[in-house]
Amino acid sequence: MQYIKSQQGKLFLQLSSDLYRKEKIHKDVEYWRCIDKLCTGRLNLKYEEIIKGPSDHNHVADIIKNQAKVVVENIKNQAVETQDNPAVIISESSSSVVPIVFCALPQIA
Ligand SMILES: [Zn+2]
Repeated sequence: MQYIKSQQGKLFLQLSSDLYRKEKIHKDVEYWRCIDKLCTGRLNLKYEEIIKGPSDHNHVADIIKNQAKVVVENIKNQAVETQDNPAVIISESSSSVVPIVFCALPQIA
């Protein structure tokens, strides 16, 4: 389980090959749901421990797409934090990616 912060400051949760977004917090319980809007996959966290779920997803986990999203967010975060040349960050980040995920990355203009 790991957290991924998007450049817009949104926090995602990666658990195995699924990505979740935070829906709400109520009485210290964080309610996370699958980033697929049509999916009912959810999990609840309390103090960063899973107390409920994850419930079933109504789709096959799109491992490649989710991994690509993680890589893209990492690239964006590094670009903001390090002020390095974006081309360097992209090539360094992309080089650690398995080829099939690399192919799913957005094309660089
Ligand atoms: Zn799902």
